[in-house]
Amino acid sequence: MPGPLELKGIAASPGYAAGPVFDLDRPLGAYVAKGSAAAEKAALEDAIAAASASLADLIAAAEGEAGEILEFQLAMIEDDALTGPAFAAIETGLPADAAWTSALDAEIAGYETSDEEYFRARAADIRDIRDQVFRALVSEGGASVPAGAILHGDDIAPTRFLQTDWSAGGGIALKSGSSASHVAMLARARGVPMVVGLGPAANGVSGEALLDAEHGGIVFAPTDAERRRFRTAAEAYAARREKAGDFLGRPAATKSGVPVRVQVNVADPSDVERIDIATCDGVGLMRTEFLFGKVLPDEDTQYAAYRRVLEWAGGKPVTIRTADAGGDKPVPGYTVEETNPFLGLRGIRLSLARPDVFRVQVRALLRAGMHGTLKVMFPMIAVPEEYARARALFVEEAAALAAAGVAHMMPPLGIMVEVPSVAIAPELFAEVAFFSIGSNDLTQYVMAAARDNGTVAALNSVHNPAVLRLIGEVAAFGQANGISVSLCGDAGGDPAAIPALLAAGLRDLSVAPAQLAMAKAAIAEVAF
Ligand code: PEP
Ligand code: MG
Repeated sequence: MPGPLELKGIAASPGYAAGPVFDLDRPLGAYVAKGSAAAEKAALEDAIAAASASLADLIAAAEGEAGEILEFQLAMIEDDALTGPAFAAIETGLPADAAWTSALDAEIAGYETSDEEYFRARAADIRDIRDQVFRALVSEGGASVPAGAILHGDDIAPTRFLQTDWSAGGGIALKSGSSASHVAMLARARGVPMVVGLGPAANGVSGEALLDAEHGGIVFAPTDAERRRFRTAAEAYAARREKAGDFLGRPAATKSGVPVRVQVNVADPSDVERIDIATCDGVGLMRTEFLFGKVLPDEDTQYAAYRRVLEWAGGKPVTIRTADAGGDKPVPGYTVEETNPFLGLRGIRLSLARPDVFRVQVRALLRAGMHGTLKVMFPMIAVPEEYARARALFVEEAAALAAAGVAHMMPPLGIMVEVPSVAIAPELFAEVAFFSIGSNDLTQYVMAAARDNGTVAALNSVHNPAVLRLIGEVAAFGQANGISVSLCGDAGGDPAAIPALLAAGLRDLSVAPAQLAMAKAAIAEVAF
C-alpha cells in the first residue's frame, strides 16, 4: 500500500490495539479434490465433524446469548435436512467444496426469500455455518488468524469472534457493523477493542494497523510519527484505566464532594456475574430486547431473568426497560420490515401494537417485582397516550394476577426520554414516576444522524449545544417537579462527556459495566 490511510468510525468497544491486519473477507484457500465420490464424502464428513466439534467447544465456554446462537448453529449443522443435499450432490460427481457451497447457497436463498422474517434473519447463521465447514474443508480454521491481529472486514460472525484467541491482544475493525450488534456486546464483555462503520475505503489492505477504539478510528500502514502518537495515546488510556480502578470501590463524588449516583446497564442476566454490586448503585437500565433473541421468551423465562438480576442487586434499585425491539435491534419474527426502522414501529410502539407479546412481559415483570426493588420504564415514548396505555396494561394484568392469587408487585413506572418531543415538552409527562434520558437515541434524533452510520458519526455528538440544552432542561424540569432524572445512554460512561452532563444538572448516570471505574474517576475530576 502506498502510504498511510486513516479512517474514522464508531467506537463499539473501547481500547487500543496495534497489529497485523487480517482480512475477514479475503477469498478462502483452494480446495484440493480427492478424486472419488467416497473420498469426497469422507472429506465433507470430516469437515462437518470438525466444525461441529469446534462449535461444541465454544458452547462449553460460552454464556448467555452467545451460547444460544452457537446451540442453534450446532443443531442446524447436525440436521441431515441441511447437509443431505450436499452429500447427494457428491453422488452426482461434484467435489466436496462445490457440493457443499451449492447446497448451502440454495438453502440460504430459501431462507432469504422466506415470507417469515424469522427465517430471513436466520440466513446469516446458515452463511456462517457454510463458511465454518468450508474453512474446515480447506483446512483453514480460526487458528489461521495471527496472534494480536486486527480483524478487518465487512462484518464478523459471533462464532468467528468466539473462535479467535484474544489472549495476545488484537481488535476488530468493521466497514459496516453496529455498536448494538451481538458481537459488539461480546467484545465489550471481553474487553476486545472494536470500531464499526469505517466504510469500504480500506478494501483489501494488509500490513500493520493501529486501532483507536477509544475515539473510533484506524490507521493502516502507519508512519513512525503515527506509531509514536498511538503509543502515547494507548499508554495514557491504560494508565487512566489502571488509576480509575482505585475509584471502583468508592461512592462517586465530584472534587468538592457532590455525590453522583452511578448505576450500570445490563442486557443478558449473566452480565451481572462479572459485576460486584458493591461497586454500583444498582441497575439503571436492563435492556430486555436481547432476551427476545431467537424466539419470543415465555413468561417464566422472562420472570427468571428479571428475578435473577433483582436478587443479585440485593435491594438496590433495578430499572428494567420493556422491550425496545426494532431500529438497530430487530427481533426475528416480531419486528416488521420497514424502510426506516429508526422512525418506525419500534419500542413501546411495537409493544402496544402487539399486546399479546407485551402482556407476557408485563406479567413477568409484575411477578418479578416481589424479589427486589424493581422500577420499570418504557422506551421510545413520544406522546403521553403511549404511557397511559402501557400503564393501563400494567394495571389490568396486576388485577388479573391478584384475582388468580399470584404474588406480584406494581413497580414505579417511568419513561425513557429519547424522542425529542418528550425532551422539548417534559411537562406533558408530569405524572410519570421517573425519567431516564436515552442519549444515544436523543442525540441521533436531534441531530438527524443515525447512531449506526460511521459516515455521520461526527454529527452524532452529545456535545452539540442543542442536545445538551435539552438534557439540561429535562434535568431542571425533574428537579423543579420532584421527578428523578437519570441518563442511561452511552454518554453517561464516556469520561469526555461526563463534565458536560454534570454541568447540565444530572446527578444520576447509568453506564456500561466496563466503563464504571472510568466514569467514577471522571466524576471525581469535575471541579464543582
Ligand atoms: C439510548 O437510546 O440512549 C438508550 C439507552 O437506549 P438504547 O441504546 O438501547 O436504544
Ligand atoms: Mg434508545
